[in-house]
Amino acid sequence: MRVLVINSGSSSLKYQVRDTVTQEVEANGQIERIGEGAGGPADHGEAMELVAAALERELAGKPLDAVGHRVVHGGERFGEPELINNEITRSIERLNPLAPLHNPANVLGIRAITAKWPALPQVAVFDTAFHRTLPEHAWRYAVPDPLYRQYGIRRYGFHGTSHEFVTGRAAELLGIPLKEFNAVVAHLGNGVSLTAIQGGASVDTSMGFTPLEGLVMGTRSGDLDPSILIYLQRQGLSADDIDAMLNRESGLKALAGDNDMRAIVDAAEAGDGRARTALAVASYRLAKYIGGYHVAVGGAQALVFTAGIGENSAAFRALVADRLGALGIKLDAAANLERSSAPRVISAADSAIPVLVVPTDEERAIADATAAVVLQARAG
Ligand code: ADP
Repeated sequence: MRVLVINSGSSSLKYQVRDTVTQEVEANGQIERIGEGAGGPADHGEAMELVAAALERELAGKPLDAVGHRVVHGGERFGEPELINNEITRSIERLNPLAPLHNPANVLGIRAITAKWPALPQVAVFDTAFHRTLPEHAWRYAVPDPLYRQYGIRRYGFHGTSHEFVTGRAAELLGIPLKEFNAVVAHLGNGVSLTAIQGGASVDTSMGFTPLEGLVMGTRSGDLDPSILIYLQRQGLSADDIDAMLNRESGLKALAGDNDMRAIVDAAEAGDGRARTALAVASYRLAKYIGGYHVAVGGAQALVFTAGIGENSAAFRALVADRLGALGIKLDAAANLERSSAPRVISAADSAIPVLVVPTDEERAIADATAAVVLQARAG
């Protein structure tokens, strides 16, 4: 099946066309500066016209069979990919308050496709869905119940498509049936999240009500004392100031002055104190969570690294692994340094559990899920 995968953001729209049988990527691109003037497309409808024109060139007349959308928030309702109709779109729209930057853009992308290609089946694949299996003791915050009932305040977790894909690949690589697989999966990109996998399912994850909770990220602070927010507000900062500070000006960027892991590692090696501190804080926090999740899953059978930093930064993986001696985890220095795009083991033979690098591929996962939903719908 030929699937167009759409990742629609507020000002950008990424697309990829995949053949889900051969896994060939037949087209790939990004439309930027939507609604920002300066000659860019005025809205998501115009952006979709640009995508259609690009596809006409790149696909040379080969027809699309379906569209798969990455949708950030599925709330408590969506635990599986859904064939989109008006009711589903409205339900996604009702979740807008939970993901004000992302879900409205996802809905615009869905409506732009409906307007352009009304006959094409569309499927929504939710970033929160994989974490729908979290037990209550992991998703509930210790706050008064009306916060949950009235405002939906609970842990949802994100990066689910990536965590699910990588978990499946890791189990396969180790020859362990998915249903029996316990692991800790670290998605280390610009956004960072850790997931505790028990019996192949997510039982805890570090991102929470929003993607801000948890680990040190490129520009996000991760965990901090919630009183800090109240204190800053009392000092006169607005909610918008605090939001921007914690989401866009914090994390590695605040600590090292840069959010590119390559630049930080290079600076640290050249003796830059801020870069060293940034690496120490980020690796310490991650190691602490890995220890916690090892306990949460009753003993992990593997530690898995993925995404930009997890797949490519041998230096950062080594810093984390160095802090995991208490768990008996040990890397093989040469295997850790090897560059490859294949799933692989990077731990020493006498490591207590294997450490894996498994490249993530969210577009592939979305295309495959879309094809499965469409085929099932056709079957009846
Ligand atoms: P996003 O969350 O935006 O999808 P990615 O998964 O692409 O992010 O990860 C981005 C991060 O990966 C950046 O910190 C970048 O520095 C890091 N990264 C990418 N390639 C390398 C590399 N070769 N070595 C070290 N870090 C890398």
